Amino acid sequence: MNLEKMYEMQKELDARIIKEKGLEGVDLLPNTVLALQVEIAELANEWRGFKHWSNDREPRFNVLEIGGTDCSEEKLVNRVLEEYVDCLHFFLSIARQLDLPAEDLYTLEYTPEGDTVILFSNLLHYVGLILADRLLVNPITNVLEYRRNYFIAALSLFYELGEKRLGLTFEQIAEAYVAKNAINHKRQSTGY
Ligand SMILES: [Mg+2]
Repeated sequence: MNLEKMYEMQKELDARIIKEKGLEGVDLLPNTVLALQVEIAELANEWRGFKHWSNDREPRFNVLEIGGTDCSEEKLVNRVLEEYVDCLHFFLSIARQLDLPAEDLYTLEYTPEGDTVILFSNLLHYVGLILADRLLVNPITNVLEYRRNYFIAALSLFYELGEKRLGLTFEQIAEAYVAKNAINHKRQSTGY
């Protein structure tokens, strides 16, 4: 598994959603950007490191969840990883909407400094800036490049967050992405 393959899987999922929900020709970028910001906030919430008012600031890496109709199924869930791949879904969907070539997913803007709180906060900011041109009265000359630049800046922070700050390995991320992609297809089939 590699990023290009995940990008292809995302394009297939997006195409299916667009077709089945009748969204051809609809500009989905604003919804997708906000969806990504929501998932980043969920990720921060499972990381917990910013909650100085709480004694429990441990990241939710392994949470015992009880399921099944008779509550007999127990499994350990890495909620941090789950939220991280939810973010990855929307990152890849935005890349598609910006027509980003697959090799550009490896473009790194910079190696960020600052602690993880600063990183999370700026990640949300850069993601929002992908839509910033739409607030301006005067149109920007190269709008695609403008959006792609903020996207790449956000993606650089997101990679730094995953592997260096949260300690998630690429293998873990890829495996969780594939599993969630399958769930998302299933949700489409069952009218989620
Ligand atoms: Mg989520």
